[in-house]
Amino acid sequence: MATDCLFCKISQGEIPAEFLYEDERLVVFKDINPAAPVHLLLVPKMHIRSINDLEPDHASIISHLFMTAKDMAKQQGINESGYRLFFNVEKGGGQEIFHLHLHLIGGWEK
Ligand code: 5GP
Ligand code: ZN
Repeated sequence: MATDCLFCKISQGEIPAEFLYEDERLVVFKDINPAAPVHLLLVPKMHIRSINDLEPDHASIISHLFMTAKDMAKQQGINESGYRLFFNVEKGGGQEIFHLHLHLIGGWEK
């Protein structure tokens, strides 16, 4: 765990947060400043700074993030209406928290 990393602290339970899903590899919780009616963050428990820092060993956590995103979209009832999945990468890409996370947004009016 990286000291002084907000998403390490949240994912390890050091800072309380309501998890919509948790397993041994990742947690899912609501974004504090939602950009859409549904805005979830899927956060690996392992500290990886950004997509730029991925190593071959990380392939399974990335696929697990996407498989979980698909399940969370269904749980939120937005799988059929549609949604967006994205990573912001480094400051120029809009990243503010330097611990890898996948955004899931949707739930707009049809
Ligand atoms: P980034 O810009 O790094 O891709 O996304 C970081 C996201 O984390 C932002 O959408 C921001 O609203 C969210 N966020 C920042 N601090 C907190 C927090 O303490 N709790 C929660 N739930 N979300 C946070
Ligand atoms: Zn971290």
